[in-house]
Amino acid sequence: MSATPPVVLLIEDDPQIRRFLRASLGAHGYELVEAVTGRDGLAQAAARTVDVVLLDLGLPDTDGLEVTRRLREWSLVPILVISARGQEADKVAALDAGADDYLTKPFSLPELLARLRAARRRAAQAAPGQDEPVYVVGELRVDVARHQVVAGGREIHLTPTEFKLLALLARNAGRVLTHRQLLKEVWGQAYLDNTHHLRVQMHGLRHKLEPEPARPRYLLTEPGVGYRLQAE
Ligand code: CA
Repeated sequence: MSATPPVVLLIEDDPQIRRFLRASLGAHGYELVEAVTGRDGLAQAAARTVDVVLLDLGLPDTDGLEVTRRLREWSLVPILVISARGQEADKVAALDAGADDYLTKPFSLPELLARLRAARRRAAQAAPGQDEPVYVVGELRVDVARHQVVAGGREIHLTPTEFKLLALLARNAGRVLTHRQLLKEVWGQAYLDNTHHLRVQMHGLRHKLEPEPARPRYLLTEPGVGYRLQAE
């Protein structure tokens, strides 16, 4: 059994972060490929098989947003954006452009490893021919194919809109979805600015699913960005 190590392509101009990730990801069984510029990152992504892209937003030649758009023209590789605090608008733009998730610097190694595992799991589940899996987080169980939701040992009745929203979050468990992405998928293109709808539905879902709705354990708010269903 000689499984090839998963390959992470790191596109990042900060040498300290590159050094930290080279040592730590290597020690956890990943092969790290590094690029300092957006141009080099795109070339590396095209030249070899990459399992996950870790992408800095502020690059010397172009920004991570442009790299995301260019990559998404031909690749479905999971893209995890890493960016400094206070760049909420940039994160949202990157997610809307097709990035899968983001991490705010400084981030911890366990957090990064968990996000990498979640990104790879989703990529594997998205492969063709896979049945709709059942999502289990703590005491929450979402069976999308059977339209069945169990929380705290009880089967929960959801409205069609609540179910649609929860199913979308469950299919993307562990990944942040932006307000626009959720509104577009659940309500449609004409409702992109109606964040009020989303708040109301999320409030209802939390009251049905969360042991303590005011302190959500499953349906997490990403301030200024969107929502995430806890994955592990
Ligand atoms: Ca940078």
